[in-house]
Amino acid sequence: MKDFNRFSSEIMCLSLPPITSIIDMDSHIASDSPLNDHWDVQQMMVMTAMKRHSTDTRVEAKRASNWWTNGLLSAMKDQSLVVLKDDLITIIEDKYPKSRHHLLVIPNKNSGMDSVDDLTASDVQLIDHMTLKGKQISQQFDGSVEFRFGFHRIPSLKPLHLHVISQDFDSKYLKTKKHYNSFTTKFFIDSKSNVHLF
Ligand SMILES: [Zn+2]
Repeated sequence: MKDFNRFSSEIMCLSLPPITSIIDMDSHIASDSPLNDHWDVQQMMVMTAMKRHSTDTRVEAKRASNWWTNGLLSAMKDQSLVVLKDDLITIIEDKYPKSRHHLLVIPNKNSGMDSVDDLTASDVQLIDHMTLKGKQISQQFDGSVEFRFGFHRIPSLKPLHLHVISQDFDSKYLKTKKHYNSFTTKFFIDSKSNVHLF
């Protein structure tokens, strides 16, 4: 479930090489080095590698949490990703598409609107507009490809976004069963006017 996938590549960065490989990489210390006792050299390298690991991990974790908070907001401003913008919505290409065609429709006024749970009856027009624009944009692609238009029940990215996704799931970013399930099970809700009731 969830579209954790969006920052899955960030998480991938967290998987670190084994310390031994770092030692191997760095192990050509000059023979006249004062650190010529093999054990001390190895200990020092383990310490250095561990220090490096923890710094990298913290940086990556921070980056991942920034993406959760600001990722889509900054993507909305990234002209290389924006496909269409009008008074109400912005449509961007998903940075880590899970199918050949994968776009996101995001309301321009999205503060406090993080998931379908935040929608009320007063948002019906907005949802209809998001769905209509999503459907229109999907028509620019090969007509033989089927699309779905919907929301993740429990999204992992803010703010609220409607997925426009072709049903081929042909993408190098579709890496896990979880990714696939997040678009093919009850965790994906097809968009409709009264989606706030589901
Ligand atoms: Zn999503």
